[in-house]
Amino acid sequence: MSQAHDDALKPSNFLRTIIERDLEQAEQQQGQLGMAERRFAGSPGDAAHHAAGPLDPAKMRTRFPPEPNGYLHIGHAKSICLNFGLARDYGGVCHLRFDDTNPEKEEQEYVDAIKEMVAWLGWSWDQNDTSHLFYASNYFDFMYRAAETLIEGGHAYVDEQTPEEMRVNRGDFTTPGTNSPFRDRSPAENLARFREMRDGKHPDGAMVLRAKIDMASPNINLRDPALYRIRRATHHNTGDQWCIYPMYTYAHPIEDALERITHSICTLEFEDQRPFYDWLLEHLADAGLLARPLPHQYEFGRLNLSYVVTSKRKLRQLVEENHVSGWDDPRMPTLVGMRRRGYTPESIRAMVDSTAVTKQNAWIDYSVLDGYLRADLEGKAARASAVLDPLKLKLTNFAEIFGSLEHREPCSAPAHPHLPELGQRSFSFGPELWVEREDFMEVPSKGYHRLFPGNKTRLKYGYVVECTGCEKDADGNITAVLATIVPDTKSGTPGSDAVKVKGVITWVGAHEAVAAEVRLYDRLFTVPQPGAGEADFLTEINPDSCRVVQAWLEPSLAGVAAESRFQFERHGYFIADRKDHRADRPVFNKITGLRDGWGK
Ligand code: ATP
Ligand code: MG
Repeated sequence: MSQAHDDALKPSNFLRTIIERDLEQAEQQQGQLGMAERRFAGSPGDAAHHAAGPLDPAKMRTRFPPEPNGYLHIGHAKSICLNFGLARDYGGVCHLRFDDTNPEKEEQEYVDAIKEMVAWLGWSWDQNDTSHLFYASNYFDFMYRAAETLIEGGHAYVDEQTPEEMRVNRGDFTTPGTNSPFRDRSPAENLARFREMRDGKHPDGAMVLRAKIDMASPNINLRDPALYRIRRATHHNTGDQWCIYPMYTYAHPIEDALERITHSICTLEFEDQRPFYDWLLEHLADAGLLARPLPHQYEFGRLNLSYVVTSKRKLRQLVEENHVSGWDDPRMPTLVGMRRRGYTPESIRAMVDSTAVTKQNAWIDYSVLDGYLRADLEGKAARASAVLDPLKLKLTNFAEIFGSLEHREPCSAPAHPHLPELGQRSFSFGPELWVEREDFMEVPSKGYHRLFPGNKTRLKYGYVVECTGCEKDADGNITAVLATIVPDTKSGTPGSDAVKVKGVITWVGAHEAVAAEVRLYDRLFTVPQPGAGEADFLTEINPDSCRVVQAWLEPSLAGVAAESRFQFERHGYFIADRKDHRADRPVFNKITGLRDGWGK
């Protein structure tokens, strides 16, 4: 994608305004007394680590922080393109950080798939010969040390209330919370207790470490949020080293600060967490543990796509209950699924960049994405002929015209009407051809110009034929169409257009057609917002979202590589399936139609 094209698509947004302001300020303040210089030691670390490093060569730092507990979906693409895109546009660096602080549900399979999809979208975490791929679980030691520091400063305490007591004592939107009876223990007592937690002296859930902030705060997130819990679980990176794990709200700000993130961009639901984010980092910077200037959190609205679910829980349910064939089922809004379906990374990036970055969650209509997809594919997908619902067309005067039934009349067509460099594709005309069943009507309806007895039609890139009738089986089903070739009408030869016809149809020679399985996909849900209101999203699954047909393809499609994309003339865009396609058993997925056919 060219830079100019990229920029044209990208409207300004409030994040760009903030970053431009921050960069300008940083420039003005350079070298001023008392201003914290932003140093970066080349790897994540505490205040001392960064103080020993040079000034950060990156003008700003963002991060994409997935939890490796599932596959990325189209909503994540928004966050990826936003974070990597801002870093690219403002001379910054974007980190790929696995937020793997939760020992349950996290797996290497997801880590690998996430890396693959970020790269597939066209982004790299390698910059200035440095990899910016990080794992939050590598910061467990620091997080523990920071917790002890908070305890020593009187900013955290071990609470032994039951989870139920804690819930009740937290209060709600209208009632302030009640202080825990354990809230006023001395730092020494808390430290001893916290170390016992770490050393496995207490069962899971017996107590938690909490920040000591304000149980009456109107912001419930500031009512002494939990920082650490006891959980005996094997972690995919640290094994059984820890039986206490940090809570997400405690871990995330620390991860940002250790990595010297400048703009920590997250979705709207974290807005109420921002005061705690700042509270925590200020205390740890005051204690000399974290380098200043500290990162700032900014929230933007989630991207939702109509006719799609993007909750990991619901996506997992679709997979585990076999409503789809897997995470990469071509109907899934996961990036692995969309890739298999044939979506191009360029179209996903263009769609995501065109959607505003605002303070509101947005619902984007699926047709917007399909519009970008078509615009991208139109310019680069080679054309091919395919018959998806085959009916045999017998040319009864073939031997008369060509001297023998064995004759094959060579035909050709451009691989792409506007890309001559893609060359020509070759196929041939024989006595029996495959045409679409809908291209014949024994009794034509009004305005029908294709095959019906007595009518002349052009076989695209071939001859004009005149339909003479059809053959039927004992039950009256049409088994073949009969026609005669009109002499001297071969496309591209002088005088070929002397015979005027109103209809043009596509065809594939039966003597050379390649048999293929073609999977015709439709949207997975029947309603724009599956699961909205009281509805169970599973009851809104489209029962006809996948139809498999046996098709005939033109010979140039024999042996194409998996993931090659084509426009099957008049049918739409198709891709050779990356999992099931074989040279001797082609399998194609329908990516999308030639124009928006939804609801029509
Ligand atoms: P969950 O927290 O339920 O596991 P998640 O979708 O928040 O799911 P994460 O792995 O935490 O998953 O997400 C990584 C990043 O992607 C986060 O910064 C998150 O805010 C962002 N993100 C997730 N979904 C969307 C979306 N629909 N639109 C924009 N950003 C999103
Ligand atoms: Mg999340």
